[in-house]
Amino acid sequence: MTLTRAVELLRQGQVIGLPTETVYGLAGDGLNPAALARIFEIKQRPLFDPLILHFAEAEAAFSLAATVPPQARQLAERFWPGPLTLVLAKKEIVPDLATSGLPNVALRVPVHPVAQALLRAFGGPLAAPSANRFGRISPTDAAAVHTELGDAVPLILDGGPCNVGVESTVLDLSGEKPVLLRAGGISLEEIESITGPVERAQPVDARPQSPGQLKHHYAPRKPLHLVNEPGEIPVRPDSAWLAFGPVSDSFPGIVANLSPSSDLREAAAHFFRMMRSLDDDPRTQAIYAQLLPNCDLGRAINERLDRASARVET
Ligand code: AMP
Ligand code: MG
Repeated sequence: MTLTRAVELLRQGQVIGLPTETVYGLAGDGLNPAALARIFEIKQRPLFDPLILHFAEAEAAFSLAATVPPQARQLAERFWPGPLTLVLAKKEIVPDLATSGLPNVALRVPVHPVAQALLRAFGGPLAAPSANRFGRISPTDAAAVHTELGDAVPLILDGGPCNVGVESTVLDLSGEKPVLLRAGGISLEEIESITGPVERAQPVDARPQSPGQLKHHYAPRKPLHLVNEPGEIPVRPDSAWLAFGPVSDSFPGIVANLSPSSDLREAAAHFFRMMRSLDDDPRTQAIYAQLLPNCDLGRAINERLDRASARVET
C-alpha cells in the first residue's frame, strides 16, 4: 500500500510529496538532520529559512515546545487541525536545521486526511515546506509537484487539489505579544478574535531578521504587474489577466478568474494553480493581477501577489 511505502521511505530519511489542505509539501522526518538537509537541497532553499514541523495532533506538537503559552492552547483548540502555524520556544531535541539555528520552532497540525493518515502512520513530526523550488509558485495538486520536482522525489501522494490553496498563517507566540509572520489560510480577523490585536512583521530584502519574510517569493517566470483596477491592464491579446469578480467579455487577452462571484475562499483555492497556468501559457508575455479586498483570505492572496511581483534587488 502507498502509505506503507511512504512511511518506509521517510524512515530511510528520504523525502516525498505530500498533500495538505494549504499546498503540497515536500515531507521528510522532522527529527532527522539528513532528511532535513535533503529538503533544503531539493528545494534549493537557503538554510536561513526555517521549516514548519507537522504533527497529527496538538499534544504531539506542543511536546516539542519548551513552553506553551495559554494563547497557543486556545488557538490550537480553535484552529487545529487546520492552516495555522504557531512559533514557540523549542526544546533541545529539535534539530537546528529545522529552525535555522533559531531558538524557536514552527508547529502545525494539518487537517488534510492524507496528511493526517501519514502523520499517524509515521508517528513523528514531518517537516514539509511547499513542494516547489525556492521562490517559485507553490503546487496545489500532485501534477504540479511532479512538474516542479520531477524525479527528485521517489513518491508523491495524491490527495487531489488543495482546498485552502494558500500556505498556513504563521503566528509567532514566542514573545510578549503575538506577531503575524505570514498571512495565510486562517485570517487575521479570526486570530484576533481570540488573541486580541496582533502585530505584523514587515517583509525585508536580504537575510531576514525574522526568517521567511523575504520580499521576493512565489514568483512566476513572466513579469507580474499588480493593478488596482482592470482598466489599468493593457488591452492586448497577449495580456494575461488574473481576475477577481465579474469580467468584461470584450477583453482580448487570456483571463483566469479566481472567483467570478468574488468569493475570497474560492480565490485562495484557485490562486497558485491559475498563476501557474498563466505563467505556462505560451500566448502570454506578462501577467496582470488585480489586488483583492485586503481582508480575510484576500490579505493572504495580496501578500503573495505583492511578493510574487517584487523584483530581486541586485
Ligand atoms: P513554509 O515555507 O511554508 O515551509 O513556511 C516556513 C515559514 O514559516 C518560514 O519561512 C517562516 O516564515 C516561518 N517559520 C518557520 N519556522 C520559524 C521559526 N523557527 N521562527 C520564525 N518563523 C518561522
Ligand atoms: Mg513555500
